[in-house]
Amino acid sequence: MQRSNSSYDRPKPAWTTARSILWDLFQWGTEFFYPSHCAFCRAPLSEPENSDGDFCGTCRRGLCQHSGPACAKCGAPVGPHVDPAAGCNYCVRESFAFDRVIRLGLYSDTLRRACLRAKYARQEPLLAGLAKLAVQLRRSEFRDEPVDIVIPIPHYWLQRVIRPHNPAETLAGVLVNILNARKNSHILLKTRWTRPQRSLPAVERRKNVRRAFQVANAEDIKNQTVLLVDDIMTTGATAHEAARVLRRAGAKKIVVAVIARAVRAS
Ligand SMILES: [Zn+2]
Ligand SMILES: [Zn+2]
Repeated sequence: MQRSNSSYDRPKPAWTTARSILWDLFQWGTEFFYPSHCAFCRAPLSEPENSDGDFCGTCRRGLCQHSGPACAKCGAPVGPHVDPAAGCNYCVRESFAFDRVIRLGLYSDTLRRACLRAKYARQEPLLAGLAKLAVQLRRSEFRDEPVDIVIPIPHYWLQRVIRPHNPAETLAGVLVNILNARKNSHILLKTRWTRPQRSLPAVERRKNVRRAFQVANAEDIKNQTVLLVDDIMTTGATAHEAARVLRRAGAKKIVVAVIARAVRAS
């Protein structure tokens, strides 16, 4: 049966569309600040979960699965009896321009799936939940490193046109409120296009991002402790290059905060 004259095909009045958009925005806002559903699997949150965080018990356990002791220098996992401040097998031959790494967990299983989904638009509640979970789990590490200013790893302007959503930017916006610091997305700029780091072998990654960042106003970060924020860290090449220019511009200390640290099996 043809439906060409039915209500299915009639264009909706403008006010109906506007009302629908406003309702979506309202729901997004209430979900962001007062989550009633798990930010990852969308299951309804029970009362204790609702007061405690953004994830249901199953997702929370999955996201925290690989959040054990971490190397302070690079965020890789270390054994329970290893001094996290002493470096590890992954970074023993590396030198980084940043001072330390704080991460929620390893880029694996549930946390990997969450990071991949967070790359897409309209995933602010998921990113907010991950940022809050990172601070909950790494509370002592964040407390040890009081920061003055929070700076997300920026995208190049052409990349922003193609994909306006930058997970680092959203994470930084949440962390700045929790840590009571200042956020500035305009200090660190990416000045050229770079190939996706994931497409390159580890040895080429530093070369790929070499001189890709610039500090807009050095006065803003002189003698400041900077929290440099990204979603995932693999070799640390991007964070290293960004930290290098921040340090050269006068930053006193640079702490890198990421949701997940990807490590290769050795
Ligand atoms: Zn869930
Ligand atoms: Zn390490």
